[in-house]
Amino acid sequence: MSANIVFIGLGNMGLPMAQNLARAGLQVSGHDLVKSSVEKLVAAGGKTEADAMAAVTKADVVITMLPASRHVESIYLGENGILAHARAGALLLDCSTIAPDVARKVAAAAEAKGFTMLDAPVSGGTGGATAGTLTFMVGGSAEGFVAAQPYLQIMGKAIYHAGGSGSGQTVKMCNNMLLGIQMIGTAEALRLGMANGMDPKVLSEVMSKSSGRNWVLEVYNPCPGVMEAAPSSKNYAGGFGVDLMLKDLGLAVENALSTSSSVPMGALARNLYDIHSKSGAGGLDFSSIFNMLAKADGGHSQ
Ligand code: NAD
Repeated sequence: MSANIVFIGLGNMGLPMAQNLARAGLQVSGHDLVKSSVEKLVAAGGKTEADAMAAVTKADVVITMLPASRHVESIYLGENGILAHARAGALLLDCSTIAPDVARKVAAAAEAKGFTMLDAPVSGGTGGATAGTLTFMVGGSAEGFVAAQPYLQIMGKAIYHAGGSGSGQTVKMCNNMLLGIQMIGTAEALRLGMANGMDPKVLSEVMSKSSGRNWVLEVYNPCPGVMEAAPSSKNYAGGFGVDLMLKDLGLAVENALSTSSSVPMGALARNLYDIHSKSGAGGLDFSSIFNMLAKADGGHSQ
């Protein structure tokens, strides 16, 4: 496969995803506002150009992994954006987590110009991005889904066609609302056990083999020292930021308003992450909500 790929957004997720494409032997031109991230891609066999849009004009595939809806809208639809520069036949994949209606709007604009565009958000965290074991939930045409397979299979392990444009984002929105709720519930349960003198490792091990079992307990324990590879054991650095989780819960709550859905737990989770963010934790991994539930004996430590 000799595709020329442009990858825009080399953050916690985008960098390891782009590195995996480069290590698989594909030509990957990487772009980010943070130059050190671009250098890390180049060190893994990628390349870059001073002007991202000059690279887009030569790309067979453009992949974006950006924070939120507004970044995606502006980089695709802006005057100096991807749709203005991509060449005929280019495949456009947005892997960011954004609002389903924005995904549909951008894809419709792309299709009006003759491009195939898919929303392809991911699950699996930075560990999954590094290992190339992400789950992709893809919205768009069946032909586009087939065309994207060679690239998605390098970055992921479970690749699902959720339906038409925006469907990938709808699945992702539901998944992350559940994840946000589960993280708080798991942190609460751990705090309760610890307040009763339990060793969090023992508590976690037993609950992960019991009916409270969930992904947070299995691979992303919020209590420092329980799992060496989890962000909680690295001062909550890297991983999935509080502000990104807050954004995703905001998408779920807004969507629930427009679809008359009841999401009482999702709304509560959004409010708790909002308070946590406003306390200054917005840039920490979302599992740091564990600190918010600490006993009132010194605030942010366990
Ligand atoms: P991040 O903030 O670490 O990375 C985003 C990157 O985009 C940053 O490096 C930023 O500099 C770059 N960027 C922003 N605007 C840009 C522009 N105009 N041009 C070039 N680069 C630009 O975020 P992340 O954790 O990598 O997450 C990216 C997306 O994936 C988000 O939508 C997030 O919700 C989603 N996501 C994250 C995780 C996770 O565990 N971190 C898991 C699944 C999905």
